[in-house]
Amino acid sequence: MKKGIHPNYNTDGIVCTTCGTNWKIGSTRSGMRVEICANCHPFYTGEQRIVDTAGQVDRFMRRLSAAQDRQASIEKQKSSRSAPEPKKSLLKELYGDEA
Ligand SMILES: [Zn+2]
Repeated sequence: MKKGIHPNYNTDGIVCTTCGTNWKIGSTRSGMRVEICANCHPFYTGEQRIVDTAGQVDRFMRRLSAAQDRQASIEKQKSSRSAPEPKKSLLKELYGDEA
């Protein structure tokens, strides 16, 4: 090997930030990281779970609960305003109160 023309070859590998696995691989780059790997990806593990590294699920759940609260308050306002008179049944409409 000729001296001084080759880049540094690192063997520290790639680290998965989700499960912490260190994949041994050689590269000229150092400090490589991945968010998900074959050890923790649902496709390879066979589990039905959501890998949430960026907090997207928490954010969605917060927005969903806020929307449900808003919907509940709107429903409460509608029901407290004025309840419509209950409609007569079809039989009572046809035959009057005698039936
Ligand atoms: Zn992993």
